[in-house]
Amino acid sequence: MTSSDLKSGWSLIGNGHIFEFLVKSLAKNNVSGSYIFTGPADLGKATAAHFFARSLVCDNTDSLKKPCGKCPTCIEAVKNIHSDIYLIEKLEDKKNISIDQVRDFIRNLNMSSFLNSYKIGIIKSAENLSQGAVNALLKTLEEPKIKVVIILTVTDLEALPKTIISRSQILRFKAVASNIIHDELIKNYKASRSQAKNFSRLCAGRPALALKFFQNEEYYKSYKAYVKSFIGLLDIDINERFSTIENILGKEARGQEAVRLAAGIVDIWQNLARDLMLMELNLADLIQHEAFIKDLAEVKSKLNLKALLNLINILRQSREYLAANVSPRLALESVAVSF
Ligand SMILES: [Zn+2]
Repeated sequence: MTSSDLKSGWSLIGNGHIFEFLVKSLAKNNVSGSYIFTGPADLGKATAAHFFARSLVCDNTDSLKKPCGKCPTCIEAVKNIHSDIYLIEKLEDKKNISIDQVRDFIRNLNMSSFLNSYKIGIIKSAENLSQGAVNALLKTLEEPKIKVVIILTVTDLEALPKTIISRSQILRFKAVASNIIHDELIKNYKASRSQAKNFSRLCAGRPALALKFFQNEEYYKSYKAYVKSFIGLLDIDINERFSTIENILGKEARGQEAVRLAAGIVDIWQNLARDLMLMELNLADLIQHEAFIKDLAEVKSKLNLKALLNLINILRQSREYLAANVSPRLALESVAVSF
C-alpha cells in the first residue's frame, strides 16, 4: 500500500502523511478522542476533518477506509445534515466562538448516536474560541468518551492554550509543491493545462485556494479585480486612487466584514509587491502572479528600488493599522497614496 494509494479517494491534494496517519489509526481501530489539524489557511484542513468524520460514520468503507459516498450515512454527511457530525465555527460578525456554542456542541456529542456509530465534533478555526468556551471544552477533553472524536482546525497552534494542545493528537499540514497541485488539478479535477499552470502558481502552495480559483468563477473574478486595482494605481491621480479604494471596498462591507475584506486585499497586494521584488532580483521564474507578469513588468519599470522598498513597508504598516482597528478605508488609502 503506497502513500498515493492511501491518499486516493480522500479528494485532497498533498499532505499524504496526514492521510496515512489517519487511515492507519482507522485500520487499527486506534482513534484518538481529540485531534488538532494545524497549518496555514487553505491547505484543506477542514476538508480533511470532514473526510475523516465520514470515514468514521460510513458502514461501507473500503480497505483504504475511504467512505463509500453512496450509503444514506455518506449522503447525509456530504449534505452536512448527519446527526452524528456536528460542526461549529465563529458566527459572522461575532467576536468569537461563544461558551453557549460550545455547550451546545458538547451536549450534542454526549447524546448517544442513533446508529451506535461515532459522534464527531469539528471546531473550525478554534483560535476563535472564547476563554469561557475553552474552559467548557477542556472539561470534555479531560474525560474522553468512547466513540466521540473532536477535531479542531487552527492556523496558529500557538493561539491555543497548552492544556488543549497537550490533550490532543496534533497533525501538521504543510504547503504543497506547485507541481503536485498542477498535476492533481488536471488528473482529478479536469482542469486545462493553462488553468492548472496559472492556479497552481497563484495559490502559493495552498491547494484549497487553487480549487477555489478553479471552481468558483466569481471568487477568481474578484481576486483578479484586486490584482488589477493594484496594478492600475500607478497610472491614476490621487482622487482616482481614493475612488478606486471606495469601489473595491464596496458599500455593503461593514464592521468586521470590511476589516476582513481589507486584510485580504492587503494580503494580495503584499504578494504582488513580493513578486515585484523577485523581478527586481532577477528571480521572475519564482513569482506567484505569473499570469500577470506583463502588467507587473510595467509597474516595476515605473518603480525604483527605493520606491519598492517603501511600498513593502507601507503595506506591512497597513496590516498593523487593520490589526489596531484603524478604519479599513484609511488603511488601504495609506497604501494607495504611498507610490
Ligand atoms: Zn458510506
